[in-house]
Amino acid sequence: MRRARRDENMLRRHRDKDAGPESSGSAPEVEKPEDGWREELTPEQYAVLRQCGTEPAFTGEYWDCHDDGMYHCAACGTALFSSDTKFDSGTGWPSFTEPAVAEAVTLQKDASHFMVRTEVRCRRCGGHLGHVFPDGPGPGGQRYCINSAALKLDRR
Ligand code: FE
Repeated sequence: MRRARRDENMLRRHRDKDAGPESSGSAPEVEKPEDGWREELTPEQYAVLRQCGTEPAFTGEYWDCHDDGMYHCAACGTALFSSDTKFDSGTGWPSFTEPAVAEAVTLQKDASHFMVRTEVRCRRCGGHLGHVFPDGPGPGGQRYCINSAALKLDRR
C-alpha cells in the first residue's frame, strides 16, 4: 500500500515536471493507484500506457492490421482512433491522420531521449499512447504514431 502511494506521487511529480507549454493541464478523469493498473493491464500494456514505453517496431498487434473498426484505449476503453484514418506509414507502428474525436487525446511536449516530440495521451485516463509528428499524409499533415499495446480494436 505504501509502495503504491509512493509510485503515484512519483508519477504526479513526473507529470508536473513534463508539463510544457503545449500541456492541456487537465487531470485525468480516471485515476487509479499504479498497482491497480499493474493488475489490470498486461506487462506490455503497462510498460507503454503507464511507463511511457515504446513497443519495438513491427512487433505490435495492429501495425499491419487493415480491419475496419474503432481503436479504443486499452486501459480505459475510450474510443480514440478510427480505422478510417489509419494509413501505412512504414514505421512499424499503427499510424493515424487524426483522433476519432480531438478531445479524446491530450498533446504535450516531450523532451526525453534527446528529442523534442509531442506526446499523445488518452485524456480520460492519462495513459501514454505514442507521439504525433507533422509529416502525415492527410490534409492536417499529422501522423499519430501509436503503440499497438495502448489500443484495443473493436471490429465492425
Ligand atoms: Fe484511456
